[in-house]
Order: sequence, then structure tokens, then C-alpha cells
Amino acid sequence: MTVAGGAAAGAPSGLLGPELDWAAAEAAVRSHDEVVLVCHLNPDGDALGSMLAFGLALRQRGSRVLASFPEPFVVPESLRFLPGLELLVPPSQVPAAPGLLVTFDAGSAARLGELAGRVATAGVVVVADHHATNTGFGTIHLIDRQAVATAVVVEELIRRLGVDLDVPIATCLYAALAADSGSFRHAGTTPAAHALASRLLAVGVRSAVVCRELFDSHPFGWHRLLAEVLGRARLEPAEAGGLGLVWSWVSAADLADLDLAADQAESLIDVLRTAREADVAAVLKCYGPVCHVSLRSRGRVDVGAACLAAGGGGHRLAAGFTVEGDRTVAIERVRAVLTAAPRITP
Ligand code: 5GP
Ligand code: MN
Repeated sequence: MTVAGGAAAGAPSGLLGPELDWAAAEAAVRSHDEVVLVCHLNPDGDALGSMLAFGLALRQRGSRVLASFPEPFVVPESLRFLPGLELLVPPSQVPAAPGLLVTFDAGSAARLGELAGRVATAGVVVVADHHATNTGFGTIHLIDRQAVATAVVVEELIRRLGVDLDVPIATCLYAALAADSGSFRHAGTTPAAHALASRLLAVGVRSAVVCRELFDSHPFGWHRLLAEVLGRARLEPAEAGGLGLVWSWVSAADLADLDLAADQAESLIDVLRTAREADVAAVLKCYGPVCHVSLRSRGRVDVGAACLAAGGGGHRLAAGFTVEGDRTVAIERVRAVLTAAPRITP
């Protein structure tokens, strides 16, 4: 199977209602005084940045706002500079049946961990997202599968609600945009993405500070971890149908030995993926009875479809899945789903 450039891999066709229902989303927000916001587990810059930007905008409108994400309820070190962290409450404090629930950057309800059940108990569920594999699990959808970040959708909704961007809101949106575009390097960095960045910078975002916090700030132990993980990396040119696979792994012991939090392992794949001999890079994060697998493609293999086949999801060039078992089981699953994965035509 071949996926033409721009097409959404694994996009479900059974979505009820439009993918981008601005009018319904705006009406839902305007008719609720209290709004509960949730984003995906182990939040990244786009998940947390988009959610906090929207929370700050709602607070400006006078709404009561609660924001949360599933356990482990720990804000990654690289995101602790984000404005609006005071909106966060632990998942145990999220109301059992919110009137209005808005989800951010979650491609499926399962990505909300123990908060997934709130999708069924909430009165209205607005899904703000940009994943190719989004399952359309809300009652109102704001899904732009072409957008480089969920922040693109969120900025539009904020504008439609008549809230002016201030520096804290713009900083959250800029962090989200920079995080998911890989500092404006990845596919999806369109003129529209740069135009949004320009609008945010004009508000007064300190781009250098945001990017240093997001990408260029680690405890020294991270450098030791990087050396370890690169040292044990394997290049397998025959995998991914001959397009090549480079992979490595991280264990709980690696993190414990270096006294590192788990979020320090998230950026390793950005180094591994630069190996030009392999179209696909994989990092297996095995900290217990399951491994979380991160996959990235340099442009030829639809890893979003591959991860969907493995029970996960994501984007065409950046995706992940969770597998029960150790790293031997996990890498076998990676090889298998890559063999069957659709190719992307340039
Ligand atoms: P990462 O490899 O950084 O964990 O994730 C890459 C992308 O794939 C992110 O956009 C993330 O939200 C998405 N993703 C990662 N794991 C899963 C998963 O298990 N299910 C779904 N639906 N998306 C995932
Ligand atoms: Mn995202």
C-alpha cells in the first residue's frame, strides 16, 4: 500500500459530524462556566502547551478551569517553564462527570489513561487534535490532521472566542508549535506554521528562552545516557523492507543509575533518527512489564500506520505504541509492523 503525500494514514472514516466543528466548539465553551481540560499521558510540549494556552485563555474569559493529565502526574523538567502550570490538578481531582471536557493532542481515548472514562461521563467532549490516527472519540471535533501541532487548532479557537493573545498564552502556543515541529524542521512546517510563529513572536514570546528550555537543557546524566544508548544502537539495513532500521533501548536501571527522570529519555530518538542509513529509528523504553516504543521515519515509511497496526498511533513520520513484554518482544513487533507498513511516495 502507498500513501500519497499529505494523506492521513489510518484516518477513520466513521467520524460522526465534521472534523473541524468550530461553531459547535465555540458554542460549547460559551455555554459552560466550568471547563475541564485533559491532555495525553506523559505530556509533551504540544499536549501541555496547547492545554495550558487554552486554560489561560478561558481564565481570561472568566471561566473556572481545571487542567490535568494521567499518572504519572509529573510535569517534565523541560516544560516547567510553561506559564499556567497553576491550572493543573492531579487526575484524582478531576470531577467524575464534567459538564464540558476538552481533550488536547490525544489521538484516542486510551491516551488519556485513567481519565479515559471521563469521555463517557462528561456532558460534552471537545477533541482538539492533529493526529493522523485520531479515532474521533468526542462529541465535537476540532481535528486538523494536516496541522503540525494541536496548538494550530487551539489558537484558532482562542481567536474565535475573542480572547487576545498575551505573552503567557503565546508562550504556551509557541512552545507547542516548536516542540511538535522539531524547531520548525519537520514535515508540516508550512507557511501557515511560520505565520503562526510570527504572530506569537509579535506578542512578545522569547523564542530563544523557550527553545533552550525545550531542546537544549539537560542534567549532565543525560549526556551519559545518550552515550550509553547510542553505544548500544543497532543498524539493520535489511529491515523496514530494505529501507533500514536503527534502534536502541532504555531500561529503568539506566535511568536509576544516572538518577534521571523518565522524560530525559524522550529526546534520545531525535539523535538516533539522524542516521541516514536507516529510514526508521526506534527507541524502546522498557521500564516494567511493558515497553513504550517510539518510531520516527525520515520520510519513506508510514510509521503512524505501523503503530496503529501495533495498537498505538500517531503521525505518518512520528508515532508510538505500547507492547507487553521485554525489549526482545518489542523489537520483534517493531520489525514485523515495519515489514507490513505502507510506503510514502515522495
Ligand atoms: P512518542 O514517540 O514521542 O511517544 O510519540 C510520537 C507521536 O505518536 C506523538 O504525537 C504521540 O502523541 C503519538 N503516540 C505515541 N504513542 C502512542 C500510542 O500508544 N497511541 C496513540 N494513539 N498515539 C501515540
Ligand atoms: Mn501534537
